[in-house]
Amino acid sequence: MQKGERPPGCEYCWKIEDMGRDAVSDRVYKSRIYPKESLDEASAMDPTTDVNLRTLEISFDRTCQLACSYCNPAFSSTWVRDIHRNGPYQDLVSDGRNHFTHEHPDAQRFTINETNPYVDAFFEWWNTDLHHTLDELRITGGEPLMSGYTWQLVDWFRDNPGRSSTRLAINSNLAMEWTTIQRLLDSCQGVELDLYTSNEAMGTHAEYIRDGLVWQTWVDNMSKIMKSSQVRALHVMCTINALCLESLPEFLTLLLEWKSRWGADMPIFTLNILRFPSFQSPLVLPDHIRMHHRDRLQRWLDNWYNHAMLHEHERNHVQRLIDYLDCVKTPHSEAFDMSKLHSDFGNFYQQYDRRRNKDFTATFPGLKDWFDGLRLQQH
Ligand code: SF4
Repeated sequence: MQKGERPPGCEYCWKIEDMGRDAVSDRVYKSRIYPKESLDEASAMDPTTDVNLRTLEISFDRTCQLACSYCNPAFSSTWVRDIHRNGPYQDLVSDGRNHFTHEHPDAQRFTINETNPYVDAFFEWWNTDLHHTLDELRITGGEPLMSGYTWQLVDWFRDNPGRSSTRLAINSNLAMEWTTIQRLLDSCQGVELDLYTSNEAMGTHAEYIRDGLVWQTWVDNMSKIMKSSQVRALHVMCTINALCLESLPEFLTLLLEWKSRWGADMPIFTLNILRFPSFQSPLVLPDHIRMHHRDRLQRWLDNWYNHAMLHEHERNHVQRLIDYLDCVKTPHSEAFDMSKLHSDFGNFYQQYDRRRNKDFTATFPGLKDWFDGLRLQQH
């Protein structure tokens, strides 16, 4: 990139930049974490030079109590159980990576009771060096708060107060009992702690998309964390998919209400546009529905654009989603044509309903006619 080249793996950002509407892509926000001198130094450095990492993101295992529709067995043990019990999802043609057809044993090569040499190596590194030098350690999952290794690390912070100035950032679905979150907050007193959670829709929509989530539990946990003042910032990462758009404006208003009460960083939100699985992309929606959501989001932004608690990147994220809905036609360069994505959308959610005891058309009445049409085409 420093040489003006465009690595294809970074297509997410190129798509945003190629909309031609001055949209700011994620690579800009990510680069801003570091001062320009550090970026220049890194790009001029011999790639074999030993350096101390500034940030590290680690996933210990895939244990997770949820099975979100856009996730898969590589990241969630509950998804593994779905495939184990019910077999592979049938007749999906655009699932080129076979996310929904097998249990992905390679994603967890050691069982919970086995010694994992990679995790052992991490803890050795942490104890000898890393805790001195790292700016930020980010733990992701699965659900990190369900992993014993996360608690091993959190207990290290509790038992070694003041020994490390590394900031701890934890991704969590916050769909668990409050006592677990309270234990985390209590153990991390004196530690700079950022919590990152995911959600993008309200109530029953959120519970449909993020199977296993209880909406009220999430709302209560969010409120208690903000009230506790024990985290530096609380981030909400929204995964923008076809099913969240109906309640997204209302969801953003809720986040804004929280900000008004607790401050601009309580919470901070990002809108991350889903590309995989491509049949769940917001771009699969029929034009008139997509444009309807574009207009609703535009009204939301016009209404709140000057709200004192909105960060610049939050305004930009809403605007770039509006632009994305308006002018991007395919989720990514290798996506199948739209008729195949539609067929997979219909196929997938009919099977998801049966396996998870859900009801698509009762949950999303605004999509009923379109969904019924997809079903008819399949019979
Ligand atoms: S909470 Fe995260 S890891 Fe768990 S199923 Fe959902 S997306 Fe996957």
